[in-house]
Amino acid sequence: MIPFISQLPENEQNVWLTALNDCLPNENVVRSSDISPADKKRCQVAIVANPHPAQIAEFGHLIWLHSVWAGVEHLMSAVKDSPIEVVRLIDPMLSQTMAEAVLAWSLYIHREMPRYAKQQMNNHWQQHQYIPASDRRIGILGLGELGQASAEQLHHHGFTVMGWSRSKKSLANISSYSGDDGLTEMLAQCDILLCLLPLTPATKELVNKSRLALMPKGSAVINFARGAIINTDDLLDALNTRHIDHAVLDVFEHEPLSSQSELWQHPDITVLPHISAPTNLNSACDIVAKNIIKFRETGLLPVTVDKVTGY
Ligand code: NAP
Repeated sequence: MIPFISQLPENEQNVWLTALNDCLPNENVVRSSDISPADKKRCQVAIVANPHPAQIAEFGHLIWLHSVWAGVEHLMSAVKDSPIEVVRLIDPMLSQTMAEAVLAWSLYIHREMPRYAKQQMNNHWQQHQYIPASDRRIGILGLGELGQASAEQLHHHGFTVMGWSRSKKSLANISSYSGDDGLTEMLAQCDILLCLLPLTPATKELVNKSRLALMPKGSAVINFARGAIINTDDLLDALNTRHIDHAVLDVFEHEPLSSQSELWQHPDITVLPHISAPTNLNSACDIVAKNIIKFRETGLLPVTVDKVTGY
């Protein structure tokens, strides 16, 4: 028996349960609340989608949890004092979906759609000089599964692409930076800064006043990772002083974004409701199933999240 531990609405949990059981015909994937206390003690692996920490604690003998999402910062705090390992979703389909969103919103900035939309609101006809994509430098924070796929996509469309990660990479056509000095160097060249980092203690509020100040005047920010990686007040200051021209925000420290938030109506912010890369039900279930079948056959766990770095 495999518990599906989740706080999703019941109808969404049912969709997951059906799809997971289809992919795992030799298992019985069950809503966690439907499992008896005795059976809970026998479960070694659980599949999770936004579980409450208390729901996880009911399963005293879990070896590992498989998340159906890529971002696992809440899970990592839930298991920090337990031996439970966490496996996050690594799915080429998700990387492709994110790379598509990155391209779409980079083009939105690159072809100055916010600027022309403002002009239209004022019945104002004015052409601005076209800048070729090759002259537009995009710096990506995070060159992992999503960052690398996005970098390739951007390069393919003619942009000049840079990336910053903990370890320096050797990637064709992408300039790689690491460390504090590397970040300073990259930020100074970013016409568009794209955030694809995991939220960890080391990345919380990484993008702050002093780092935004390093970016060229008139540059833009896209955050498709987690809201707390960017200090919102510092970003608002940078937008209000016209140092940063525009921000596309898909993620926020508190979601859903409060209807009272000033971000909604800010003329230089595009607010998106966390839609850049939704998990694909079918590909995610296939991947989760393969990982669980291998575990049952060999006892081996897939790559787990590092509890020290948090990703
Ligand atoms: P990943 O494969 O783990 O890649 C993380 C990247 O960030 C790696 O390149 C890593 O460097 C770098 N990194 C981590 N901590 C760092 C630090 N302190 N300093 C410098 N670089 C650091 O993660 P992923 O699968 O690409 O996903 C990234 C994030 O996207 C997820 O954690 C999630 O929050 C977010 N996400 C958002 C959506 C959405 O719809 N908005 C959807 C899916 C995921 P190394 O390569 O050196 O390890």
